[in-house]
Amino acid sequence: MHKSNVNYTYTSRSKMESLKTALLFGIIAYLMYYLNSPSRTKAVRNVNSTYDYIVVGAGSAGSVLAARLSEDPHMSVLLIEAGGEETDNSTFYDPPLLAQLLQQSQSNWEYYTTSQTKSGMASLIGENRHYWPRGKVLGGTSMYNNMQYVRGSKYDYDEWAENGCIGWSYKDVLPYFLKSEDVLGREFEGSEYHHVDGPLGVSLDTVFIDLGRRFVKAGRELGFQEIDDFNGENQLGFGISQTSVRNGVRASTVKEFLRPALLRKNLQVAVNSHVTKVNIEQKTAIGVTFVENGVKKIVTKRKEVILSAGVVGSPQILMLSGIGPKKHLESLNINVVNDLPVGRNLQDHLMIVYPSDVNETSEVLSKSQAESFLIV
Ligand SMILES: Cc1cc2nc3c(=O)[nH]c(=O)nc-3n(C[C@H](O)[C@H](O)[C@H](O)COP(=O)(O)OP(=O)(O)OC[C@H]3O[C@@H](n4cnc5c(N)ncnc54)[C@H](O)[C@@H]3O)c2cc1C
Repeated sequence: MHKSNVNYTYTSRSKMESLKTALLFGIIAYLMYYLNSPSRTKAVRNVNSTYDYIVVGAGSAGSVLAARLSEDPHMSVLLIEAGGEETDNSTFYDPPLLAQLLQQSQSNWEYYTTSQTKSGMASLIGENRHYWPRGKVLGGTSMYNNMQYVRGSKYDYDEWAENGCIGWSYKDVLPYFLKSEDVLGREFEGSEYHHVDGPLGVSLDTVFIDLGRRFVKAGRELGFQEIDDFNGENQLGFGISQTSVRNGVRASTVKEFLRPALLRKNLQVAVNSHVTKVNIEQKTAIGVTFVENGVKKIVTKRKEVILSAGVVGSPQILMLSGIGPKKHLESLNINVVNDLPVGRNLQDHLMIVYPSDVNETSEVLSKSQAESFLIV
């Protein structure tokens, strides 16, 4: 009895010591990360009156575009975002396992679809409506998404090119995918479909590795092909996908592209700034109007206005600027600049979640991942 008490005390003490050491390492690692991180660069309140490029929306696309355009030190770039900085609130975007929770958190546009006739039958909010999360923060929806790094089918790109979208065949786009990628780990070493040293961290999804392997095995048993690289030669079958994850944490576009670029003097970002209109003169965009904390501001461009406000935001801004279906704009008393079917033909893919019971104990995280979470 006595002996077991001693053992118990000893074990809990040594556990306590390990916990303290881990905590200390964690704090030191976090401080080093924070102090060395360009993420402390703050957004501007007073914008200039003119920039070479004005980019609207700092999501997946806008963050990359602003970073790329500002590589030329002779060009000035303003990036305008309706949401705040990702460092402004306590939301913890980094851990991949929190993705589902984040999709219903703050810094979101909180969109809901209209009642659907062919989907949404299991809708939790009723009336066959879907909740439609979209990020409203620097990084946009790349702060919330499920981080699957799947470039899409090569046949789709080729079909676009065949239908007149010059420059979008798979052969054309592959060099850009490669340029942006920093594939981590050694699984794809030497592959012509992967590249190291780009800005975007890409890892093989190891979070659900054990359950994932069983899923792939089940596919094999059903006669499907096993795929070891969804961005490689064969893309149809069962496999474990790659993720935009670096060292166990979400590799959002704000972290991978925008923050490092914000160290440049020729790139400025305005946050909490809602663009209400593209200003147009003689059918040419000359700048934008936006509202920041209730104050209306106007900026003009020397070269281009780029709309990257997402699948809802961009068409909405176009329509508010008079570019859209004439009838609809007139019903809202918007002066028609160009009668175009803007906002039509939106297609989205559905994700079907298929829960099943696991009747054996299985680890979600490997030991090294659990450790990396602790350290980051
Ligand atoms: C739940 C979910 C999971 C997903 N999972 C994956 C995945 O695993 N893999 C994958 O590849 N893709 C995934 N996607 C899709 C992917 O995240 C999006 O396609 C991508 O983020 C869209 O990028 P974007 O730049 O077009 O728009 P966004 O990233 O949404 O950026 C638009 C930005 O514009 C801003 N904005 C909008 N209106 C205005 C305005 N008027 N003024 C100023 N700023 C404005 C917004 O606040 C936002 O920051 C997922 C999407 C969702 C919703």
